[in-house]
Amino acid sequence: MKNIENVVIIGSGPAGLTAAIYTARAQLEPLLITGQEIGGQVSITSEVENYPGFPEGLTGPDLVQNFQQQAERFGTRLEIDEVTEVDFQQEPFQLTTHGGQFRAKSVIIATGASPRRLGVPGESELTGKGVSYCATCDGFFFRDKELVVVGGGDSALEEALFLTRFASRVRVVHRRDQLRAGQALQRRARNNEKISFVWDSVVTDIQGKDAVEAIRLRNVQTGDESDLKTDGVFIYIGHIPNSALFKGQLDMDDQGYLIANRRNHTSVPGVFAAGEIADPIFRQVVTSAGEGCKAAIETEKYLADLEDRSYPG
Ligand code: NAP
Repeated sequence: MKNIENVVIIGSGPAGLTAAIYTARAQLEPLLITGQEIGGQVSITSEVENYPGFPEGLTGPDLVQNFQQQAERFGTRLEIDEVTEVDFQQEPFQLTTHGGQFRAKSVIIATGASPRRLGVPGESELTGKGVSYCATCDGFFFRDKELVVVGGGDSALEEALFLTRFASRVRVVHRRDQLRAGQALQRRARNNEKISFVWDSVVTDIQGKDAVEAIRLRNVQTGDESDLKTDGVFIYIGHIPNSALFKGQLDMDDQGYLIANRRNHTSVPGVFAAGEIADPIFRQVVTSAGEGCKAAIETEKYLADLEDRSYPG
């Protein structure tokens, strides 16, 4: 087993990478365990138009690359692996990954959230065969095809707009008759002639053998069922926090979001939370980056205080 790390950051989205930039600049030599893919959700976002400092906007993958370069420039070590187990009951904290074990004086959790699934027949079987949660990754394959986007929030409309670059038609299926998305996106979507809306409807089944062929819809007002032919289904119905790893070790709310105070401290001293893992409300790149910064500053203070007492290990 390696030496005791000052700080291990779990997760490589905007929160984790910002925490890395700050802790690295503070000479704490952070180790960042990336998770399955670097960048988290923003790496599958087609276009980021509201991150300050980029007036023309930029793609999610480009923004992630910038974050990563900046974190590495100050000496962050990236471990491309996934944490499978943590033990915060003893000091130093213990972390197990597929590839090894680590001990750490402090931990910043920035594991974010994952797309919520519909949970209907055909969804898992046809994922990658027309069912997708990532327009940036898969939109290109649907040139001149007809698509369905499920959801009524900002993500659904933003990605529906992106998909109009390829598809001949995009139908947005929403379970109510009012969108949750912000007004600016609503206006753009309503003004796009390739986009139409199917209101008050839920998807109950995704059909197809080797590729998506149709979906079954149920109108929640009338109970009527109908089939709609489509070549692909893009699902944007919110997120669930990636907190299963911390069950029983850290306090969380009934949705599974970690409970952290306004200074990003979790229920265990020395373990901090940043970004969407503890934020069911704002979930913006800029707020996640800000939370990463706050968690890093608090970690720095925590480690400085640790120096004043003898440390086990
Ligand atoms: P969201 O705001 O939670 O919206 C989820 C949408 O999916 C809602 O319209 C919801 O319907 C619907 N939904 C939830 N569960 C469903 C189910 N089982 N079946 C069918 N529909 C279901 O999620 P989001 O759009 O991913 O946005 C997440 C956060 O990121 C938000 O705070 C958003 O503002 C932010 N965001 C911002 C931008 C931007 O600023 N450009 C872009 C993307 C995301 P109801 O409306 O009926 O609840």
